[in-house]
Amino acid sequence: MRLSRYFLPVTKETPSDAQIVSHKLMLRAGLIRQTASGIYAWLPLGLRVLNKIEQIVREEQDKAGAIEMLMPTIQSADLWRQSGRYDAYGPEMLRFTDRHEREMLYGPTNEEMIAAIFRDAVKSYRDLPRTLYHIQWKFRDEVRPRFGVMRGREFLMKDAYSFDLDEAGLQASYEAMFVAYLRTFARLGLQAVPVRAPTGPIGGNLSHEFHILADTGESAVFYDAALEDVSRDELLSADASTIAKLTGLYAMEEEEHQKVENCPVSADRLRTRRGIEVGHIFAFGTKYSASMGMTVQTRDGGQVHPQMGSYGIGVSRLMGAIIEASHDDNGIVWPDSVAPFQAGLVNMRADDAACAAASDDIYAKLQAAGVEVLYDDRDERGGAKFATMDVIGLPWQLIVGPKGLEKGVVELKRRATGEREELSVEAALARLT
Ligand code: ATP
Ligand code: MG
Ligand code: MG
Ligand code: MG
Repeated sequence: MRLSRYFLPVTKETPSDAQIVSHKLMLRAGLIRQTASGIYAWLPLGLRVLNKIEQIVREEQDKAGAIEMLMPTIQSADLWRQSGRYDAYGPEMLRFTDRHEREMLYGPTNEEMIAAIFRDAVKSYRDLPRTLYHIQWKFRDEVRPRFGVMRGREFLMKDAYSFDLDEAGLQASYEAMFVAYLRTFARLGLQAVPVRAPTGPIGGNLSHEFHILADTGESAVFYDAALEDVSRDELLSADASTIAKLTGLYAMEEEEHQKVENCPVSADRLRTRRGIEVGHIFAFGTKYSASMGMTVQTRDGGQVHPQMGSYGIGVSRLMGAIIEASHDDNGIVWPDSVAPFQAGLVNMRADDAACAAASDDIYAKLQAAGVEVLYDDRDERGGAKFATMDVIGLPWQLIVGPKGLEKGVVELKRRATGEREELSVEAALARLT
């Protein structure tokens, strides 16, 4: 992509309404633009990152055996009356009527809809277990939308729903999602801490939240310091034994921690940190299958309400969380896995024919090799170009200037470390391809 033809409204000024660094940087780097309170347009660079996060989430869901589908954003109130949640949900639900005075809502979550779809299609134990998921926009009329996409009103969520014949099956489905979450967050370059979460009025059920540690997190988490020792490699290849190890350690969301009378972790090992909730998994049993009249025939001819679980990931919130976890004074530092482009190619002198020709040639070669490259071919000062590259945080910067070209070299900079290296064009290309 040539920057001269792209749409990248980068700004130098720090937006005054943004309180936390990720929100500031998302605005400055031209990733998003607010269009109404808590509602954002995703600009081209932001959309590339969002798509990459979404794709990693999708791959790990697929690997866990979940099946992708797509449910609509708009739902009917009748569906929610079946579960009894229409009245219970409160003002976070955006409600409206269509031209025929039918009550509608913009979905804040999809338990009811998936339960109705599954109920109407599945009658036999032969069709279980199943886990279905979609990645779709949600709307919650948050009292205080803030921190940009971190607490938006419209936001992108991956939500999965599992259906099992019995509790042992639900446990297995829950663990498969737990594993998928550990791998997903590790691939996104994040250290996520799984903590026990409150289960609400239903009780007795299992629930975990996944938190990214950051001072700007809106939740408090309490956990055994040993959780920090779990290596990234271990998480990337997580399995049932990883879960056993992690859930064997004390780790609680605030409300849960407060319920504990004698914390089993000694004070010197108990960590208290702020966390950003990026995922939440929940085994709730027959709550919706019973209220919505979902039954399947068992092998011996009986009837049961399937055991259900639901599993959310805040896909758009993750972008903020990644930036909170990975930035410096000059801007974003994208992990390779979600960077909008792998490399930025900077032509230091667009008005110098030889320099432009050499840069064009490198650009063509990188493209031919399949490297995602953003080529700054604009006629701008070098300093402004560097600032742009730093704020948008691409993992590599390849800098082409007339002086270097005379010596037959270009400069390769690693964004994360700031290390710069002079090398031949061939060597630089070899490093990036
Ligand atoms: P929170 O405690 O932050 O309000 P929640 O517990 O209400 O989140 P869930 O119902 O568990 O959210 O939804 C699943 C995931 O969706 C959350 O873990 C979070 O990552 C994401 N999410 C929830 N609300 C928002 C929001 N307003 N903006 C962006 N992401 C959100
Ligand atoms: Mg909430
Ligand atoms: Mg929460
Ligand atoms: Mg939650």
